[in-house]
Amino acid sequence: MRAGTPAGARAGTPAAEPAPAAGPAPAAGPAAADPAELPTAATAVTPTAALPGLPRTLTTRARTLAAAVRKRCADLARIESPSGDAVRLDSLAEELAAGYAATGATAVRQRCDHGDHLVLDWPGQQEDLPHLLVVGHHDTVWPVGTLADWPVEERDGRLTGPGVLDMKGGLALLEGAFALLADLGQRPHRPVRLVIVSDEEVGSPDGRRQVERHLRGAAAVLGLEPGHPDGRLKTARRGSTRVRLTVTGREAHAGNDAADGVSAIDELVDQLIAVRGLARQPGTELNTGRIHGGTRANVIAGRAEAELGLRFSTTEAQHRTLDTLAHLTPHRPGADVRTEVLSSRPAWPERAGNPLLRHVRSLAAALGQHLDGAPAGGAGDTNLAGARGLPTLDGLGAVGAGPHARTEHLRIDQLGPRIALLAALLAVPLPRLRER
Ligand SMILES: [Zn+2]
Repeated sequence: MRAGTPAGARAGTPAAEPAPAAGPAPAAGPAAADPAELPTAATAVTPTAALPGLPRTLTTRARTLAAAVRKRCADLARIESPSGDAVRLDSLAEELAAGYAATGATAVRQRCDHGDHLVLDWPGQQEDLPHLLVVGHHDTVWPVGTLADWPVEERDGRLTGPGVLDMKGGLALLEGAFALLADLGQRPHRPVRLVIVSDEEVGSPDGRRQVERHLRGAAAVLGLEPGHPDGRLKTARRGSTRVRLTVTGREAHAGNDAADGVSAIDELVDQLIAVRGLARQPGTELNTGRIHGGTRANVIAGRAEAELGLRFSTTEAQHRTLDTLAHLTPHRPGADVRTEVLSSRPAWPERAGNPLLRHVRSLAAALGQHLDGAPAGGAGDTNLAGARGLPTLDGLGAVGAGPHARTEHLRIDQLGPRIALLAALLAVPLPRLRER
């Protein structure tokens, strides 16, 4: 399947038992609302009031579907997919497209040499409304062969294995939510587009363009990254930029012709000392993560480089620091200093009031869940949306801990609640999220 061709439908997530009353949308499920099960304060004000019986139907069916989603997540994690491995990423993309297509999506592969990206579209009940954008990725930080000594396993109510939480769990959960709606004969309220990029774990150098293209006109943006370890959603994130400093000097014999040489290493050290001062400015954190240079002790180094990881709490701090780095000047004649931005994600600031979080919180309450949001440290593709002021929420993927670590796991008991929440978010009309 190449760009522009729809994915062939075939069985993906096994669906729960067929809905007895699968009718045209917005058909509610067969179960009537049970006031005893719903918090009364929430029922009175929640958006699900428009769809009576929906919370209970979603919760019950999500519970049934959780086993299929757990299996789907394990199966996806068994397809190793490190960033940069185009063959494996493409075969995983094919598998994902087939699963989503079985829930009614049209899939299009977007060509990328480092592994194709995937764009999926589900029609909504109200086709003319702006789309809801969901953002995910199918690459992981885990090299091929990790499964050999760390297989995907269930233990003590947890599913563990490389990439289960970040983010094969999130991808499986969304498939489960659409399977649930399809099962009820429901469509999402508005058109939904899912963009899955192949290079998120290396800063989305190519995938970023895909995400940005589909941000245009989106009503709201949801991320499938894992939530906070306690399940809370992510409401803001710091900006993140990787920078490479490359210093060129002039090689010379360190004993005989030292005066002819210009040490790239000495120059780099001086630059790094100056650069370290940037981290003392408010809103900026700096890690010099890698340095490299020179050849041997009796040669004055002709070349040296360093890779910096920067985190920013505000856009201003990001602009100020990157501007300083772009204008570094060499301390010694004959040396040259070059700054390259390898990847960059803008800061996504916290939004006062946050109507999207309020909406999701009230949906959760109607489903009998307690849910809140909090800012997060790490950056992701939802930074691109949040930085533009679009209503954005991340962390809607699996609940667990240890992403990028050997302790990575997700909580199996939280799969059902998340499926129900995602399905409710898709089915229930969004409130007004932006000031006019
Ligand atoms: Zn991730």
